[in-house]
Amino acid sequence: MEKISVAVRFRPPNPAAADPSPGGAGGGGDREWRIDDTRVTLVHRAAGPAPGAPFVFDHVFDRTATNERVYGTVVRDLIGAVVDGFNATAFAYGQTSSGKTFTMNGSDADPGIIPRAVRDVFDTVRQTDDREFLVRVSYMEIYNEEINDLLTLEGRRLPIKENLERGVYVAGLREEIVNSAEQVFELLQLGEVNRHFGETNMNARSSRSHTIFRMVIESSAKNQIDSEDPIRVSVLNLVDLAGSERNNKTGTEGVRLNEAGHINKSLLMLGNVINKLSESGKQRGHIPYRDSKLTRILQPALGGNAKTSIICTAAPEEMHIEETRGTLKFASRAKCVSNCAQVNEILTDAALLKRQKREIEELRKKLQGSHSEGLEQVVLKLRNDMHKSELERDRLAMELEEERKLRMTLEHHLTEQQKRIEGLDNTSISADQFTDSTQLDALKTPDSKYIPDGFVAHRSRYSNDVEFSPLPENLDNIANDDLWTCLNKGCVTDLDMLEMTPGLKREASLLQDATSAAPLEEPTDARCQRLEKDCVSDRQQLEESNVRCAALEKERDLLRDKNSSLQQELSDSKREANLLIAEKQTQLDDSIARCVALERELSVSRQDAERLAAEKQELAGELGVERQKMEELKQDIRVISRAFSQREGQLTSLYTKSKAILENCKASHVATLP
Ligand code: ADP
Ligand code: MG
Repeated sequence: MEKISVAVRFRPPNPAAADPSPGGAGGGGDREWRIDDTRVTLVHRAAGPAPGAPFVFDHVFDRTATNERVYGTVVRDLIGAVVDGFNATAFAYGQTSSGKTFTMNGSDADPGIIPRAVRDVFDTVRQTDDREFLVRVSYMEIYNEEINDLLTLEGRRLPIKENLERGVYVAGLREEIVNSAEQVFELLQLGEVNRHFGETNMNARSSRSHTIFRMVIESSAKNQIDSEDPIRVSVLNLVDLAGSERNNKTGTEGVRLNEAGHINKSLLMLGNVINKLSESGKQRGHIPYRDSKLTRILQPALGGNAKTSIICTAAPEEMHIEETRGTLKFASRAKCVSNCAQVNEILTDAALLKRQKREIEELRKKLQGSHSEGLEQVVLKLRNDMHKSELERDRLAMELEEERKLRMTLEHHLTEQQKRIEGLDNTSISADQFTDSTQLDALKTPDSKYIPDGFVAHRSRYSNDVEFSPLPENLDNIANDDLWTCLNKGCVTDLDMLEMTPGLKREASLLQDATSAAPLEEPTDARCQRLEKDCVSDRQQLEESNVRCAALEKERDLLRDKNSSLQQELSDSKREANLLIAEKQTQLDDSIARCVALERELSVSRQDAERLAAEKQELAGELGVERQKMEELKQDIRVISRAFSQREGQLTSLYTKSKAILENCKASHVATLP
């Protein structure tokens, strides 16, 4: 068990509100909120703290806090947990213009919790090497207790359903499989455009509607061989709630009756659920999650299997003190709520990843070798197409089931009426022949007998139960008391009519007709006529229902066509992918052939090189021998030239000597001449 984490954030004061004091939340006036670490106290500027204990929370942010800081302190840890398989929810609660949307969406300069969480999810997924992930997102709005899909204009008034495999879910909600933060941002933008579409007073709407951005993250171990291994499925809800201020504050007392249509039942019930959960175990009793769409959708986040952070936003101005006090009280109660989060692992085919795995894996394996850049996009598109067909099929099945139920009810009703007419024709007994009330009971139509247990009567009895939706003492800040009383003390029509299908409404009115217009003293003939008339109208309704059924069947056929065209597209894409693979295969074969040829050339060259190396070595050997010979020759030459120069010397000296002798001879000869 772990407590819900609760933070309070004061936005900067409106520039019109003057002179924020140091340590105060700002906002001017005699009184102001003083922030001291995690405590918030209301102080009289002149006289010090106003009577009453300070509020203490897990975190308190003053006007200087950035979205980055708020996200880092309150939400970042949730993202790691979600990627690990825990459910997580973060929501902003507070009066209109206290900064909920600023906290969730942020600005370009300081993005809010949603964009930061989206980026963190994909970063964390990328860093988790040992698992593969499938992320899908949806974006919805709850306005006037109706759920509208913000990713498609067709998804209006979606019902909440529940089954064992999927738990509580919004039937027909568009879910888009995504693999990057940018894709999510595009979808969020589309959601905002859809929200604005056809809405004249956007401010009024956004202060009265809740938006729920949801990411479902499925993951499985990457090298998972056994298909029986569990898949982790976790849900991250990021919620921007409607404004929690008192309605009559806006000066619309004159239109209080109309406000019943606009009043935020979900927000009342959220306060109620938090109230109940914050009570200690024994007093707690029934938690009325089912009383509103918001609490039903957020059920795991409120005392269930999820990690939850609440950011309560507050306006610092003196004129908003009562609303801020209300917000802080809500935050204090929320602080007492414990959740019990655990990793969600499932073995069944409820995990989309599991359902798609085989086909996608096959395709991915085929495509992997080809390194084409667009392949991830092909896989993503296929995933989305497959998922959309599944959603479409579910929606159709649901509509058909509803139609079938309605038809069966009408048929049953018709048979009953016919039986009654036949019975009356046969007996022709007048009611006043009976004095005993039990005898009269036996004669009453099944409808009039069922009235005490009928739909409306049953709900009204439920609403009268003291354990059910008790009046919380401090809820005056989030709704006017009349409405609260109205919703909780037996005003049955509002609660019941809100969820009735047109068919059921009609049935309920038939039931009521049967009680009010069937006094026992009514003559049999008149009664017969009336019943016949009922019969005719039922038949008419049956026919209408048949027409509707036929229309639905036509729509089903259309969708079946669409489905088959999607399948065609799927097989086209597969064919394209196969062509791509074949092309890549040919390229690969070419490359392999070129490789083989090159290898052959390489081996020839290698042989040549070896031969040349051997020759070179041989030549080098020969060269060595030649060099040796040359050295020897040089040596010989040196010896010869030495001998030569010796001889030359000898010759020169001989010559010199001979020359001298000759000179001498010549001289002596001349001397001897006469
Ligand atoms: P809410 O969604 O609660 O109705 P908004 O988020 O729309 O309120 O805030 C009302 C105005 O106050 C917006 O103009 C918004 O930019 C501004 N604002 C709210 N909180 C802050 C903040 N912490 N810092 C700066 N401006 C803020
Ligand atoms: Mg807002």
